[in-house]
Amino acid sequence: MKNRVTAYFLSILSSVKEHARVNSKLLLQIFVLLTVPLNTIRALQVVQAKTTVQTFESASFVNSTNSEVTHASRALSNNRPVDFYPVSIRSGLGNDSDLLAPLPIQPSTDLIFQGPGTVLVPILLYHRIDRSLTDSQYYVSPDEFEEQMKLLWDWGYTTISTELLVKAIEEGTDLPLRPIIITFDDGHLNNYTNAFPVMKKYGFTGTLYIVGKYMGTPEYMNAEQIREMVADGWDVGSHSMSHLDLTSLDPQQQQYEIVESRRFLETELGIPIQTFSYPFGVKDTTVVNLTYSAGYTAAMGTGYTYDQGTSNLFALQRRGVNGTRDLNAFASVLPWQGDAVYLLANLPASSP
Ligand SMILES: [Zn+2]
Repeated sequence: MKNRVTAYFLSILSSVKEHARVNSKLLLQIFVLLTVPLNTIRALQVVQAKTTVQTFESASFVNSTNSEVTHASRALSNNRPVDFYPVSIRSGLGNDSDLLAPLPIQPSTDLIFQGPGTVLVPILLYHRIDRSLTDSQYYVSPDEFEEQMKLLWDWGYTTISTELLVKAIEEGTDLPLRPIIITFDDGHLNNYTNAFPVMKKYGFTGTLYIVGKYMGTPEYMNAEQIREMVADGWDVGSHSMSHLDLTSLDPQQQQYEIVESRRFLETELGIPIQTFSYPFGVKDTTVVNLTYSAGYTAAMGTGYTYDQGTSNLFALQRRGVNGTRDLNAFASVLPWQGDAVYLLANLPASSP
């Protein structure tokens, strides 16, 4: 195009020369003829460059220099409104961004194959999401809980099901770059009223460990509420029938707590119950063996690491979150910290 403009310019010049009528007014007209197409070319190049930058940023977690863009990608993948969308349009585009119409931001599909064997997946344990009158460690206030969920979201965590973790351990599977499992023991009603809406807001789902005899009693969730959470992607496991120390029971009682609770919850909720959480985290070999033979695929233990593997499939490492009112304390126990743009520098290790 530039060559064609130059040729056009030269042809005019030679024509002008031929007729020997060169004056300043004509030169100005020639100058305008030359510069207008060049400006148009330059403008087109700018638009092209900006489009490339924007497409690149919205498609990539790794090289984005604007965390809002990362968030926007993830927000869309969670089917949430992208309320900071204009930020991505502005990023790196100078002041004349209105040259461009907004481009759609693609949902992120960033996954990495992990396992089989040990995988690094943090599992958090909550009980009540409510204000505690007695400063009980089993309470996390709704405000504090919201702060924690926001931090997880800001840092690029994605909730996964325990079923997916088991698959990663046993066969290996694609996992999000920062997977996390968020569990709630005992089935408190505030899990439904206070935790569920906040987690939904951040596109998270959790795992409920329900005590058969507690379900539907005052202050505990009923089957309908649990089914509503399941319909939204939540998992349910058994936390026994009566919440007793299983190691203190006779074999018949153990059978009832471990085997019968599974059948009971499956009937009441109409879903498969695949994992178990030992009441008080207390277990012995007999209890673990019975849990295995009852058909559960995994069980939650307690611990302070996030290494999950075949050797602890029935005692998965799970860390309790206590009401500390200090977000730094919560942040310090997370395996990956900081903005999600640094994801590739922090890939979780996996070993066969
Ligand atoms: Zn419990």
